[in-house]
Amino acid sequence: MRESTADFIVVGAGSAGCAVTAGLIEANAGTVCTLEAGGADRSALIKTPFALMFMMGSRNRDWRFETTPQSALGDRVLAIPRGKMIGGSGSINSMVWFRGRMDDFDNWDVHGWSSADVLPAFEHIESRMHPKRLAQPHPLAEGFARALNSDGQTPPSPEYEGAGVFNVNIQNGQRRSPADAFLHPAKASGKLTVRTDSRVAKMLFKDKRAMGVELLSGQQLFARKGVVLSAGSIESPALLMRSGVGPAAHLKSLGIPVIKDAPEVGQNLHDHPVVGVHHAGPSSGYGLTLAQLPAWFIAPLTYLISKKGRLASNLVEAGAFFNARETSTKPDVQVHFIPYMMGWQGKTRVWGSGYFADVGVCRPKSRGSLQLRSADANVKPAIDFGLLNHPDDLTTLIAGFKRLRNILKDAPLGTRHAPEVFPAKNVLTDEQIEQHIRNRLSTAYHPVGTLRMGEGTAPVSPRLRCKGIDGLWVADASVMPSVTSANTNAPSIMIGHRAAQFIAQDYSS
Ligand SMILES: Cc1cc2nc3c(=O)[nH]c(=O)nc-3n(C[C@H](O)[C@H](O)[C@H](O)COP(=O)(O)OP(=O)(O)OC[C@H]3O[C@@H](n4cnc5c(N)ncnc54)[C@H](O)[C@@H]3O)c2cc1C
Repeated sequence: MRESTADFIVVGAGSAGCAVTAGLIEANAGTVCTLEAGGADRSALIKTPFALMFMMGSRNRDWRFETTPQSALGDRVLAIPRGKMIGGSGSINSMVWFRGRMDDFDNWDVHGWSSADVLPAFEHIESRMHPKRLAQPHPLAEGFARALNSDGQTPPSPEYEGAGVFNVNIQNGQRRSPADAFLHPAKASGKLTVRTDSRVAKMLFKDKRAMGVELLSGQQLFARKGVVLSAGSIESPALLMRSGVGPAAHLKSLGIPVIKDAPEVGQNLHDHPVVGVHHAGPSSGYGLTLAQLPAWFIAPLTYLISKKGRLASNLVEAGAFFNARETSTKPDVQVHFIPYMMGWQGKTRVWGSGYFADVGVCRPKSRGSLQLRSADANVKPAIDFGLLNHPDDLTTLIAGFKRLRNILKDAPLGTRHAPEVFPAKNVLTDEQIEQHIRNRLSTAYHPVGTLRMGEGTAPVSPRLRCKGIDGLWVADASVMPSVTSANTNAPSIMIGHRAAQFIAQDYSS
């Protein structure tokens, strides 16, 4: 007889996976084994907010996925960073904290997920994550926070037009990740096993019931009560398809035996498209200049002693929401403001002092899809965001880009104000702005939607069960029917927390 590893196996210790793990333990649903493909999260680089710039592109902490050539962007291929370690993308992200707009959830139109339904879950996770206004914003961020007639003190909100310094999940100058708030404390229960460097290659099914998982090493692990898929918007649908749950014709074309024909697995992929503006000038923002060298030398010591100073900055310090299109009745774009000299020639670290802001569509209409290239788990999937395949996204971006430039021109940035250096005066007309957007558009790293929840043909039920398979739930950003109007970490954690509630209820009834 097979020996079971635990009552539940959770695949992925990311933002949602940490919350679902802790939720199952706290609800006394049983023992849990959480499997994470990446390593531990003990490094000081993960804890130190400013060091996030070293995580993206890292060989062992970033999955380093890429899009397929995006036809509306001149066939450019975009990077898709995803955290690969305990805490997942919640361990490499910029720590900006937003629930989203409350009507985002009403508009999902999924039973049990209205704004009133999700509110208690947000309150619960915030009592653990402790988001609050960034403690020591750069003077430029303080200045930007007073743009759009804002008071400079209130954090911005997607509910109305305004600017502000962001709320962040940073505590005492250190990243407070979902692992810090949920996974690590749950270990004290004695009911949790966390295994790092344990990548799941596929799920194991018997008679349309999830029995366990097979690791890349070939080891098989079994669960008594069920498996929760929390591998994120890219790996969760890929894992399901490799295991035989997905569009039948696609699976057959790769020689994968079909367990359940689920045509929408991998569909509805989308993200917030963003495009930015660079400003540079002496004594402006953080950057590599001779004048700032002493500050950079002192910074590690200051941080070590007090957890303060420039290394306590999450870089994405401030932002805004505004109505880009005249017809908009609610903010349709979000701005991220970074008081740091970002290169526009493909490098993040360049000489000079400056600042950067991008504008992104809050509720994009373009949709793409994710497909497998091979049944082999070592081969990355084909990820097509379908960027700008809906014309409204381009119209919103052009309008947003133009207004962002004006906001940056008028923002009370004092003596740190610096001229726009890219794209600057070569890009002025709508046609030039459109071409600039096609040349430079990227995403906010918020992919969602590939296993949307809902009634009818949606692959996941409103109670987060994988339809047609017993004992299998999905709990991560992939279940969002549409992306929330701002950054997606808090909604992903909220989904993980609610998944645990549903699963625990199902087992106690
Ligand atoms: C660079 C960056 C910056 C961001 N900045 C912000 C921000 O400031 N604010 C914000 O709100 N959002 C931000 N986001 C987005 C936010 O972090 C994500 O939306 C959120 O973390 C998604 O949570 P998730 O649980 O769906 O996936 P993840 O957190 O990505 O978790 C998935 C986990 O599953 C693991 N996994 C995957 N496949 C397997 C497998 N086969 N076997 C075992 N384990 C597996 C992964 O390694 C990972 O740990 C950012 C994202 C990135 C990448």
